[in-house]
Amino acid sequence: MTSRAIVVLLGKQGAGKGTQCDRLSEHLGIPHVSTGDILRAAVRERSPLGQEVESVLAAGNLVSDDLVNRLVEARFAQPDAAPGALLDGFPRTPGQAEALDDLLGEDGIKVVIDLEVPSELVIERLSSRRVCQECAAIYKDSDVAAISGTCERCGGDVIQRPDDFPDAIARRLETYERDTAPLKEFYERRGLVVTVDGSRSPDEVTSDLIAVLRERGLA
Ligand code: AMP
Repeated sequence: MTSRAIVVLLGKQGAGKGTQCDRLSEHLGIPHVSTGDILRAAVRERSPLGQEVESVLAAGNLVSDDLVNRLVEARFAQPDAAPGALLDGFPRTPGQAEALDDLLGEDGIKVVIDLEVPSELVIERLSSRRVCQECAAIYKDSDVAAISGTCERCGGDVIQRPDDFPDAIARRLETYERDTAPLKEFYERRGLVVTVDGSRSPDEVTSDLIAVLRERGLA
């Protein structure tokens, strides 16, 4: 049994999971746990983990289940995650979904939100996405911070992620369809999935998400 508010966001890369989790994290007071952000931070710090995964991330391939499962377990052990977490980019394979069940107990996940966006739109969004290397703030290529290369939030460098170049985008979308899309069915069988149209403006998507969480007593 767990009383934690664990919310899983599924959706292709570029569906807006990161942006929405940041907003919901503020609203709900639970952390945004992005395995991609944790791995990118390790790459930036040049830690042993970062050196191990750098080329895998740059190519847009997945790191091993075992490694990511351990990262999530360690993250969940931190005090700020005691009341719950918004999971972005995890689980991403059936093996990770099973590991999450083992970690939380079967009733652990309160809702799985599938942020649905057509592939053409995510390709457009990812190609124009720029991110702060320090705090992971997200910009568009036309934003002042992207043009100047300086984050408005923390002053860090704003860059184009290596895995947001066209070859890596194509590989990541293929991987999503093959490994991650089947998780929707896995969670549907447990009645946990709510599909939200992620193609609209960020504000519209946020209000839909808050409504979904409210219905479940989470917001
Ligand atoms: P994201 O920011 O979620 O798109 O993740 C960026 C990259 O980190 C992915 O393309 C993978 O290389 C790696 N990664 C993030 N989360 C996972 C995960 N749950 N399983 C395996 N690899 C992951």
